[in-house]
Amino acid sequence: MTDDESSVPIVCDECGTTAQIPLSDLADQLEAHNERMHDGEPVAEVDPDVADQLADLVADELGLLDG
Ligand SMILES: [Zn+2]
Repeated sequence: MTDDESSVPIVCDECGTTAQIPLSDLADQLEAHNERMHDGEPVAEVDPDVADQLADLVADELGLLDG
């Protein structure tokens, strides 16, 4: 079984959106959502429940969790 593309759950408190986003699209999808829905405010984010698990991977790939 191969599963190259991990999906990452994102949540947006402000509009109640949840979605599973392929890791390779994560940055683009988050940015697009925030641009479209929240005037570029970083409201939508990776689900905190999995953010810890993914922190290393995501931070390494995308730098999203820096700081
Ligand atoms: Zn939103």
